[in-house]
Amino acid sequence: MTALFFEPGRAFAQSLDSNDPLKSFRDEFIISDPSLIYMDGNSLGRLPRRAIDRVNDVVNKEWGERLIRSWGEGWFSAPQRIGEKIGQLVGAAPGQVVVSDSTSVDLFKAVMAALDLLPERFKIVTDSFNFPSDLYVLQGCASLLNGKHIIQVVPSEDTITPDLPALYDAIDESTALVTLSHVGFKSGYLYDAAEITRRAHQAGALVLWDLSHSAGALPVSLDEWQADLAVGCTYKYLNGGPGAPAYIYVHRSLQEHMRSPIWGWFGDQRPFAFDLDYLPDAGIKRFQCGTPPILSMLAIEPGLDLLLEAGIHRLREKSMALSSYLIALFDTTLAPLGFVLGSPRQLEQRGSHVSIRHPEGYRINRALIEDLGVLPDFREPDNIRLGLAPLYTSYEDIYETIERIRSAVAGKLYLKYPAIRQKVT
Ligand SMILES: *Cc1c(COP(=O)(O)O)cnc(C)c1O
Repeated sequence: MTALFFEPGRAFAQSLDSNDPLKSFRDEFIISDPSLIYMDGNSLGRLPRRAIDRVNDVVNKEWGERLIRSWGEGWFSAPQRIGEKIGQLVGAAPGQVVVSDSTSVDLFKAVMAALDLLPERFKIVTDSFNFPSDLYVLQGCASLLNGKHIIQVVPSEDTITPDLPALYDAIDESTALVTLSHVGFKSGYLYDAAEITRRAHQAGALVLWDLSHSAGALPVSLDEWQADLAVGCTYKYLNGGPGAPAYIYVHRSLQEHMRSPIWGWFGDQRPFAFDLDYLPDAGIKRFQCGTPPILSMLAIEPGLDLLLEAGIHRLREKSMALSSYLIALFDTTLAPLGFVLGSPRQLEQRGSHVSIRHPEGYRINRALIEDLGVLPDFREPDNIRLGLAPLYTSYEDIYETIERIRSAVAGKLYLKYPAIRQKVT
């Protein structure tokens, strides 16, 4: 740990920043307004400077000049090349990760492939911390399969930590698939993925992890856990840009036994043979579908390179120090104003964002965005989420955020906003 004891005051934050081994990475990002504090890197990562040059090249040179020749000069292989870099971040040996589609679509493909592999089993186990889109995809899969499956959504008692005994109880001989978000999107709870994977395998079930809120901020060890399947988005901690395509991991031993539910030509062994019958690629490529979105896919790579340069263990180290510092300031400054912590206090159970809760959370969040130059986000019913992106979030950002939240509440700035929800929060 970088720092275990925290002192109040800005000077302490500044001293933590000046001793931060990752501090130079902040300069790799566009920070157009230094007074704006960005606390939403867990939702949309900042723009890496290198991505601007890369996108310029892709548009002007690769598309503009090289035209269709570019398919053979790096475009066609990009889903796998970039997949391998993501693989390094999530502990996957080569040949198991490919970039394609969106997280929701990849999740659909992975769920259908898993259920297809275990047709005798009818239960899908997940929990109430999973991302709603993931739950919708599960419901859609069950509906497509004519209601043969039941989805057991294990509830949480305290809304911060999952009910692990109930989760383990739910996994039984009828379970085909256990699927969870590795880090919960509200409380930021970080699961013991190795243990859950082990328990699922003991019962003969497959496991599918959604890494959207963990990859790029903390170590993920898919091969070591012996995970079967994983998906994740690239626009959060990976800084790939809005709507950048997602990735899917299928353990090597399962690839040739699993079918993607969408048979497209990019998943075929020889797409340019234009054969009339589908013959799936032997490896991970079978989980690709159609022509990938090249512009947004190539924009992912510069952000990945930064993460790989920083090293995932150093990133986790800093992320833990950032969240610990935030919670220390929270306890002294915000708890007395009616806030309660919405995230685990135990470090090893915490991902890279911290939720703080207040009955007026929604209006306070609006005051932060519109009056106070802080961009967090809000998750119902009362969570203000503070995302900590260790590549560029500074300790002073955290100090300043807590100060501005304190002023919003102490000065009752939020009272001017209605409690009626806007569309995007
Ligand atoms: C962000 C996120 C998604 C997003 O899915 P899209 O298909 O990209 O909209 C899915 N699952 C989890 C757990 C997420 O955090």
